[in-house]
Amino acid sequence: MRRVFVRKQMQKAYNSGDFEKALEIASRNIDCEINGVVSKSIIVRLHWKKEEFEEVIHLLEKWPEAEVENLKQKAIEKLKRIRTYEKKSDDSSNFLQVRIDPTPANKKILKHVYDSEHLTKNWFQENSKLWFRHPNGWVYWDMPIDFNLNKTHPALLELATDVLLRPWNKEVKKPITKGRGFGKKLALSYSGGIDSTAAALLLPNDTILGYNERSFTSMLDHRNAFRIFDAWKKKLGRDVLKVPSNHEIIRTFHGKQVGFSTDYASGVHLILLADMFDLGSIAFGALIDNTWLQKGKWYRDFSQSGHWKLWSNRFREAGLELVLPINHISEAGALRVCEKSSLIDDINSCMRGNGVTGCGKCWKCFHKNGPLGREVDLNSKEISKFLTERPMRTAQHALWAIKILGAENLVPDLSELLQEDLSWWEKAYPKGLELIPQNHRDFVESKTSEYLQWMDDVTILEETNLFPKQ
Ligand SMILES: [Zn+2]
Repeated sequence: MRRVFVRKQMQKAYNSGDFEKALEIASRNIDCEINGVVSKSIIVRLHWKKEEFEEVIHLLEKWPEAEVENLKQKAIEKLKRIRTYEKKSDDSSNFLQVRIDPTPANKKILKHVYDSEHLTKNWFQENSKLWFRHPNGWVYWDMPIDFNLNKTHPALLELATDVLLRPWNKEVKKPITKGRGFGKKLALSYSGGIDSTAAALLLPNDTILGYNERSFTSMLDHRNAFRIFDAWKKKLGRDVLKVPSNHEIIRTFHGKQVGFSTDYASGVHLILLADMFDLGSIAFGALIDNTWLQKGKWYRDFSQSGHWKLWSNRFREAGLELVLPINHISEAGALRVCEKSSLIDDINSCMRGNGVTGCGKCWKCFHKNGPLGREVDLNSKEISKFLTERPMRTAQHALWAIKILGAENLVPDLSELLQEDLSWWEKAYPKGLELIPQNHRDFVESKTSEYLQWMDDVTILEETNLFPKQ
């Protein structure tokens, strides 16, 4: 009786337009055996009514049983139609509406649907634009003029498909076509920030620096990145290759924010260019903070982790070594490497600054700009909020930064952790070198020694267990 009553009450609230009440009852009943499905359906419909299409998709991926009237597909279609952005014209006086996700001009290409059987058949070239047909639409890369899809080994297209779709499409996990031999050159997926600049500084001078340039307007500001690229050119005579692309929208079809589908999607442009540049290795700027430490808090043997085994093997299947040239240094180590280079005044990782200085108020400014001696407001809303969060984000590094900035008084409950000597956090972890392929290892080792000391007692790192899991 009670259950029938709950359902009637919920439907009555929904039908009479009292959505808050309907949502309140439905949220209480999602685990109920009898009313669970109807409760979930009501929640999904409420988000649909509010035009929260990303949430509709997200919920229906979590609760496929709550699907009604094909709302997931309808939400995807809606999102496709509204994905436009405002682009300033050159004189910045008028605005043009430009699609974030354009489609191929060639009608023959355009009629293709996603082929889950033959993954390489989802790739097309139109002049220097490389198109990828994903299950929910099209994304593109503006490739260098000499790029030729027909001269690109299928293994590279399959690996690229994997890094773009793995979280959602099982078929991308199948074995990669054999036969692509390792090339001779090395490229780094370069973002222009502190970490990847440190990676570039520890690699040979002929490493290709390749920037994934998000091709649409967003919170992400390219000015900081472009300033460091200028500095590379003026001070060190190096060019940075920029490849504009909108592939970061793929995630939004799964209810997530714009961003990389997987850790290695940030270098998908280099996978696609691997034959053109004769690449044998692609490097990514992952630090101790996300390799040997999980979430910057707990030590794990990264060399034995499922993540490392999976991805280093996948890259190898496509004739590429996966290189993590700063896996043996921490965020503090990366700061110290950059600090000693001629580029330091041209780097700023803050996304909210004016293109030259940081905002001084965000968490990035706190843990990156603060330790470099740049001005930071420790009482800003975001910094004070994050300092009081437990577990603290980017924990080991944040502790070090608190100490460097003399901000211990702001976190009295952490006084015990802050009594330790944290200078080890700036030093390099010798075991990390073992992860770097033999042909690059000696170089990275000797470069590291130019910039940093090596940890003499690795047990401090290997016993790290901050804010233990309950
Ligand atoms: Zn900032």
